[in-house]
Amino acid sequence: MYYIYIYTPFYNNWNYIPHLIEHCVTNIKSEKDYFLYNNLKASCNTFCTYFILPTKNKKYLNDFIKKILSPINNNLIKYEHNVIKDENKTYNFEIDLVNKIWKKLYWNRVNFNQNWKLSYNKTKDYHKKYYTKENIIILENNIKYFDWEIKTNFKLFNTFKINKEIVYVFNHNMIDFYILIQISDLINEYISYKKRYFEEEYYRHETIFWDYKDYIFLSINKDSLNLYKNINESFIDNFITYNLKNKDYLNVKYFDWTSMLLYWYTLSNNDKKRIIVNLKEYYLNFINVIKF
Ligand SMILES: [Zn+2]
Repeated sequence: MYYIYIYTPFYNNWNYIPHLIEHCVTNIKSEKDYFLYNNLKASCNTFCTYFILPTKNKKYLNDFIKKILSPINNNLIKYEHNVIKDENKTYNFEIDLVNKIWKKLYWNRVNFNQNWKLSYNKTKDYHKKYYTKENIIILENNIKYFDWEIKTNFKLFNTFKINKEIVYVFNHNMIDFYILIQISDLINEYISYKKRYFEEEYYRHETIFWDYKDYIFLSINKDSLNLYKNINESFIDNFITYNLKNKDYLNVKYFDWTSMLLYWYTLSNNDKKRIIVNLKEYYLNFINVIKF
């Protein structure tokens, strides 16, 4: 696989244009190419757009880069504008919550569902500005590791409630980012386990983990508060043992793009492993910090 990232900040406090461009550059109309790009993943995040190519083939990679850097035309922009209108009809709890978090922290005007006035020139200018060879990070070629002694010092920046969600906001730093990924995983496993086997529940509401430049968010439903604050030691031990044996570090690699974009280096697999080994200590530290 190739992990390709491009820094694509909001335009006018909104990600409509970056999102529209992500759609345009991955518009594959020819029947032949439809299957070639069938498993391509593309998504537009808060400050970057990423593409995951399901291949190790260099030619495929080069063709794809050429494709996303090529100028986009008005017909394509108009077509994908309508596709996004359709996409936005679907309600997604996670997107809705993240929008609310952004509104609270950053901007009053952030709103995915507003009707954006289509501007061909603004869209084309944005594409020209950010979709350049120099701006593309290909994780496999550009990855740099930074080794140091891992210690946490979570800095809880803010805590607030949105409906039934309690949102913890931490200052962004690379170590805490990776530790919080594991803590969020641990909490999710514990909630699933408890709800399914002790509370006769099938669907459960998991934590939502998100980050944007200076902040990391971890949101937990109020109803699960007592659960996640009291994860027993043996469960954590089992979680650690299982993850050390089975964790596909490629999965964690998925998060390397954030480090690479923000810091231009990321954690080595050894350091990621060390985080899992010491998770119990980090979890207790986390519980201490998030007094609510
Ligand atoms: Zn979309």
